[in-house]
Amino acid sequence: MFEKRMFPGGIHPREGANGKKVNGLNPIRSLEAPPRVIIPLQQHIGAPAKPVVSQGDHVRIGQKIGEAGGFVSAPVHATVSGTVHDIQDALLPNGTMTPAIIIDNDYQEEWIELHPSDHPENLSAQELQTIVREAGIVGLGGATFPTAVKLSPSGGKKIEKIVLNGAECEPFLTADHRLMLEKAADIIDGVRLIMLALDVDEAIIGIENNKQDAIEIMAASAKAVEGIKVVGLPVRYPQGGEKQLVYALTRRQVPNGGLPLDVGVVVCNVGTVYAIDRAIREGRPLIDRITTVGGLVQNPGNFLVRIGTPIDHLIEACGGLQSNVKQFIYGGPMMGMAIARFDIPVTKGCSGLVALGEEAMEPKESPCIKCGACREACPMKLFPSRIDAFCRHDRFEDAEKIGVMNCIECGCCSFVCPAKRSLTQSMRTAKNAIQRKRRRDAARKAQEEAAQKAREAAEQAAVIPDKQTAEKAGKEA
Ligand code: SF4
Ligand code: SF4
Repeated sequence: MFEKRMFPGGIHPREGANGKKVNGLNPIRSLEAPPRVIIPLQQHIGAPAKPVVSQGDHVRIGQKIGEAGGFVSAPVHATVSGTVHDIQDALLPNGTMTPAIIIDNDYQEEWIELHPSDHPENLSAQELQTIVREAGIVGLGGATFPTAVKLSPSGGKKIEKIVLNGAECEPFLTADHRLMLEKAADIIDGVRLIMLALDVDEAIIGIENNKQDAIEIMAASAKAVEGIKVVGLPVRYPQGGEKQLVYALTRRQVPNGGLPLDVGVVVCNVGTVYAIDRAIREGRPLIDRITTVGGLVQNPGNFLVRIGTPIDHLIEACGGLQSNVKQFIYGGPMMGMAIARFDIPVTKGCSGLVALGEEAMEPKESPCIKCGACREACPMKLFPSRIDAFCRHDRFEDAEKIGVMNCIECGCCSFVCPAKRSLTQSMRTAKNAIQRKRRRDAARKAQEEAAQKAREAAEQAAVIPDKQTAEKAGKEA
């Protein structure tokens, strides 16, 4: 039997450089916009946005510069006023290149005219979805799934509960913690408006017990609103994982390969709900976010940053890096990505940047001693050592059979492994290989279907003249 509010597996990593949450008490600082922003058209899960501006265009803050590229997609907006310098490929933290709109800041801070909702308490579900979609809001906890899609259940599914993710379980990151302390009333207002529009009676806000101040302030704000409750959660990583959070708070089990919606739940990060509140109340699209800069920087803190700000601008605002930095992580140390260049922009999903020292250096691997620790730590109940063994022999189909696609890449298995095996990397490799194969298979199938259709059309075309010839011959006879 699991401890109350607990999920299976997980670990308890140390929380910061001194074993304490860092930056948690520093108020959010507003970062001055940089001279140039780089706004990638792909900052979300789904189809990339399509540019709707051209080189040389003048743009204002909040202006849509990229249109959503499909249903699962999100628009992007200008985050400074100025001139479109170019549309060119830019580097993303995962190492891929993607088209981005580069804007030179004219420092006029000229905004588009904003249109707040004139009846926020009476929005229909469709009006809410339109506001969220047009504001370009995606999951700000790092998942970057377009939020409007989450709020638009299809196939007869009904949203019964909203779960707010205030767990922030990654070490070093404190952006959500700080946001809850400073904007509790707005977050509660946001969730109330979502509940009204979607006709949902219950919302549960999950916050780890190491943020007692946030629990208290959020509970005090929620007191006046029926149906919203704040729940303290054991400090355990990955408490903020969607499936883990849903299980801990509702005891509903999201099926493998499924979504929280399959069990009647929608999960939103607290930052996402804050952005929704501003989109409804102020008509404001998503142009900035709170990002933690932590670890070995001179003055760590939480910053309100314009989307598209190059990381070096942010590091400069922190007074630079300390001399003993060995690795720089985009995101948190458990799930983030190591980056080697600082011209990468802050995107919608960038909850933190962490500079690490010696502890980040890859330890030397040794053979598996079959201790079972990785299996015990896996919150998805996978068998990481076995998947790793398959992966090292390119046996990706076998890895797929034992569920590698359910891996959430949380890093718990690598963290606990006494042999220091790079298990999470094996999971990523296997998942990428399987996804590539699925894409290849789908393309081949589409090609075969197209060829089959072409053959049928050609046969049809051949049959009709033959038929006409036969009819003609018949008449002549
Ligand atoms: S990275 Fe994947 S396999 Fe490893 S513990 Fe997390 S979910 Fe399990
Ligand atoms: S934790 Fe490491 S050593 Fe232990 S079984 Fe898993 S892979 Fe092997």
